[in-house]
Amino acid sequence: MDASAGGGGNSLPTAGADGAKRRVCHFYDAEVGNYYCGQGHPMKPHRIRMTHALLAHYGLLDQMQVLKPHPARDRDLCRFHADDYVAFLRSVTPETQQDQIRALKRFNVGEDCPVFDGLYSFCQTYAGGSVGGAVKLNHGHDIAINWAGGLHHAKKCEASGFCYVNDIVLAILELLKYHQRVLYVDIDIHHGDGVEEAFYTTDRVMTVSFHKFGDYFPGTGDIRDIGYSEGKYYCLNVPLDDGIDDDSYQSIFKPIISKVMEMYRPGAVVLQCGADSLSGDRLGCFNLSGKGHAECVKFMRSFNVPLLLLGGGGYAIRNVARCWCYETGVALGHELTDKMPPNEYFEYFGPEYSLFVAASNMENRNTNKQLEEIKCNILDNLSKLQHAPSVQFEERIPETKLPEPDEDQEDPDERHDPDSDMVLDDHKPMGHSARSLIRNIEVKREITESEAKDQHGKRLTTEHKGPEPMADDPGSSKQAPVSRRLLYPSANP
Ligand SMILES: [Zn+2]
Repeated sequence: MDASAGGGGNSLPTAGADGAKRRVCHFYDAEVGNYYCGQGHPMKPHRIRMTHALLAHYGLLDQMQVLKPHPARDRDLCRFHADDYVAFLRSVTPETQQDQIRALKRFNVGEDCPVFDGLYSFCQTYAGGSVGGAVKLNHGHDIAINWAGGLHHAKKCEASGFCYVNDIVLAILELLKYHQRVLYVDIDIHHGDGVEEAFYTTDRVMTVSFHKFGDYFPGTGDIRDIGYSEGKYYCLNVPLDDGIDDDSYQSIFKPIISKVMEMYRPGAVVLQCGADSLSGDRLGCFNLSGKGHAECVKFMRSFNVPLLLLGGGGYAIRNVARCWCYETGVALGHELTDKMPPNEYFEYFGPEYSLFVAASNMENRNTNKQLEEIKCNILDNLSKLQHAPSVQFEERIPETKLPEPDEDQEDPDERHDPDSDMVLDDHKPMGHSARSLIRNIEVKREITESEAKDQHGKRLTTEHKGPEPMADDPGSSKQAPVSRRLLYPSANP
């Protein structure tokens, strides 16, 4: 795409006018709202359908390319996940799960992450949307959206916190084919542990997670966890406390992200927009308004770097739908009106029938002094990036460009880059192949402080030290790490 076209092209090096038009695509599968995780389970895919209804009635669907995702194939999922774990997800059913007790336990499926009808196709759908979004960004779109994605807790061979496959890791691997450096930013209230772990030892992905820290799922995300080996200083954790409001959040989000963008200069950005950081969430404890949450989207968009917007947590479903609809408007450069148009889920939004999610008067337990200290600590780590030898800031490696497809006659198969399967060839101009990155995932982080911590201190030495035992190692000494805590203990019926 010509960077000068449309008043705001793909990957301009500097921040553009905020309202400038962007080429946006949106992934949605009408089936996604039909998946049902079980009675009482807080994760409700129906929220994606509600979001889509709002997008339709606000007239936003006509202003972006709306695409049905290609389901991710086994081999797509196996770019990150273990073959046996993917095979298990494909084969397990509610009827047969009792015959696979050992596998359920091994893969952490059953409590937070129950087996339900259509589980595997659900995973294929949301992962397909995120990978498809990455392909679109690689081929010239400015912003790609997949509200069904953003399931940041899933591990290579383990489900966690309502997440079965990690669509974010898969999307980032796709972006790495065309971009030397990818930035991941996570504003879900929970730590983005699965993505952090996947890229902990590489400088080609920088992960930045803003999250509640302290006796809270998944327990990781200590400010002292900064990456390891080549990845040292390419991981940032911003620990926050209950009740953080819009002003406090932006007082730390904007300076950190500005510095990250200046120092790291990513070729693409993935923003996980978990809506459980909103005020009034069923599982969350922050106090962000919808506009405060969307300010993060607006800010990321202003850098004019290809941007993948993903969903994530969010358990007060009417607020999730309102938030992600408003943020889709932000992506398109439109300020939507608060007065909600009639729609098929109108009764969910009463009695106020407004789009904007309001903050409450809950106490903000984050003091300015604490936030200032956290900010200084993180900015200090960022200042060390200058000395990172393996990231070259001087020159951007040219991307491989495909012919620009005609918007109206676009072949939907283009969404599956012929190169987006598991065969990672060597013709791309990147230093490391994605496969070598994945090999690095086997090298687990090492504890950086001398002391181990107990459950309440969040960190166990065994979780961070030394190579991770393979899941199929019969002599595995892997203890139940903090990640085996439950996000929602009563989700298990
Ligand atoms: Zn969450």
